[in-house]
Amino acid sequence: MSDKRTDYISWDEYFMGVAKLSGMRSKDPNTQVGACIVSNDNKILSMGYNGFPMGCSDDEFPWCREGGPLDSKYVYTTHSELNAILNYRGGSLEGAKLYVSLFPCNECAKAIIQAGITQVIYDCDKYADTPAVIASKRMMDAAGVEYRQYKHTNRKIEIEL
Ligand SMILES: [Zn+2]
Repeated sequence: MSDKRTDYISWDEYFMGVAKLSGMRSKDPNTQVGACIVSNDNKILSMGYNGFPMGCSDDEFPWCREGGPLDSKYVYTTHSELNAILNYRGGSLEGAKLYVSLFPCNECAKAIIQAGITQVIYDCDKYADTPAVIASKRMMDAAGVEYRQYKHTNRKIEIEL
């Protein structure tokens, strides 16, 4: 007879939870996305969130979505998935899984494919109708990267910090 806890979080809850926690580090006032890269044997390899590259000050570069071509965040931000890939210092990500709170755009899909990541578990897919996401799925389909939507369990986790 085992006295093991039965209400522990699942692997999916754990890794999506870490991805979402990473997203909470983002300074973007409109969109906070987090990613978590996991090995096949369920070890966390890397994490990332959307933000500006190193040396590009969060206080000096623009966070707005409108304005001239050089005045919006779009030309400067690095997405969470790419940051998670670039943050990894351990070697190859071949065969790894990526958990992300928003479906990867086409630019991140290229990086995911080229890094050798073979599975994407995403939460929100609110940009499914945009060219960026349609192109992303087309490339991942062609490259054999599997993707599946995270299934919500509606578990609430409160962490006092
Ligand atoms: Zn992206």
